[in-house]
Amino acid sequence: MSALPRTAREAADLLRRRETSAAELAELALERAYADGHNAWLLVADGHARAQARSADERLRAGDAPLLCGVPWACKDIIGTRGIETTAASRILKGYVPPYSATVVERLDAQGAVMIGKTNLDEFAMGSSSENSAFGPVLNPHDRTRVPGGSSGGSAVAVAAGQTVFSLGTDTGGSIRQPASLCGVVGLKPTYGRVSRYGVVAFASSLDQVGPFANDVETVAMVCEALFGVDEHDATTMPLPAEPLRAGLGDGVKGLRLGVPREYFVEGMEPGVERAVRAALAALEREGAELVDISLPSTDHGLAVYYIIQPAEASANLTRYDGVRYGLRVAGADLAETYRRTRGEGFGAEVKRRLILGTYALSAGYYDAYYSKAQKVRTLIKREFDEAFTKVDAIITPTSPSVAFPIGAKVNDPLTMYLNDAFTLPVNIAGLPGISVPCGTSGGLPVGLQVIAGSYQEAMLFRVAAAYERIGGTMEVAA
Ligand code: GLN
Repeated sequence: MSALPRTAREAADLLRRRETSAAELAELALERAYADGHNAWLLVADGHARAQARSADERLRAGDAPLLCGVPWACKDIIGTRGIETTAASRILKGYVPPYSATVVERLDAQGAVMIGKTNLDEFAMGSSSENSAFGPVLNPHDRTRVPGGSSGGSAVAVAAGQTVFSLGTDTGGSIRQPASLCGVVGLKPTYGRVSRYGVVAFASSLDQVGPFANDVETVAMVCEALFGVDEHDATTMPLPAEPLRAGLGDGVKGLRLGVPREYFVEGMEPGVERAVRAALAALEREGAELVDISLPSTDHGLAVYYIIQPAEASANLTRYDGVRYGLRVAGADLAETYRRTRGEGFGAEVKRRLILGTYALSAGYYDAYYSKAQKVRTLIKREFDEAFTKVDAIITPTSPSVAFPIGAKVNDPLTMYLNDAFTLPVNIAGLPGISVPCGTSGGLPVGLQVIAGSYQEAMLFRVAAAYERIGGTMEVAA
């Protein structure tokens, strides 16, 4: 074999017909990862991958192996992996080796999936371009002068460049869906509470969710079947019965009501993105869906709400990096100076910006003006979505207002950078599931279509996304 299979289904079929082995797939993925020219990987775990592949081959030979057994995957380096360095792309965690794995990693281990390594990201997942990594920016495989999106840029690129079959990212305000869009792959943020956050470096705990990237919707659904479910280590996970998430993949959209929120087609969106998304809507209509004009009036406030709540939670979560408990320690004359020097040298500029914003928003005297007001608007945003889902089965929007932008174009302008997530972060604020699927191109660069559904309605998301995948164009790219 010269290239990795595109999907988990293809890989599983080849493995079951003995046309390849887990060991061969792992070698292919390792070779591609080592040859990567996009700075997508922070660590290639070759010894670990080979050992996992050997056990996967044994399970496959014994028969009755799970579908993901022997399938290579890549892990965003903000997800803890036992015995394997986990840095969140920060100098402050350089050299940190977790004593246990995140629940999501354990669940993929239990399937026999083969982890190839850890992928690059914006430091602590703060960013939309993967330029905020302490270990250098990630490059977009469609055009290496451009960003891959972020913060899970490395995980999106590893899939888009054919270095792995699927990967995991985290999404706090768009960090799976936006890079999926900019790299031309599928990416899902599950409903808040679907996937355990145990063992994942916390950014903004009421918004963070782990989710998969892949080349097709079915692989994403297969990975979700492995990940979803209650975890005693994360009290926010919901004890729901296991669901066959792939059952409706072939059902199509005939008779479904798809909401098109007018607030998501606004000035500032690139004309090529709007054209691609309008064409997708027309195609879904031809397939028998009914398009319903809807309004989500508080959309405009999403960004403001997110940039209060998210830095507030981050400022609390990141107090643990104090030079005593984890990673870097830069000693000072006394404890306070050790804190200051460790954090001063360990954190990058964007992380510091968020910590200052968050600490300010939570400080006495400002708490009511900012944080508690933001929580009230958060409730309104959630209510508007709930109200919309009494009328429609799913909502369709662009994933991002722009295609991949040149490296360096927005780094000095945080506000313009933050606008990248205007269409994705309301979904986190409301705790809903959202998926981005490739939706043609604009100027040769991928565009993403976002499908949003009600809480715990991932099966509906997959149904709509798979129907569009069959009629729309997907993009492939050479490494
Ligand atoms: N780009 C957004 C931010 O910078 C979202 C990041 C994320 O989802 N992790 O906060």
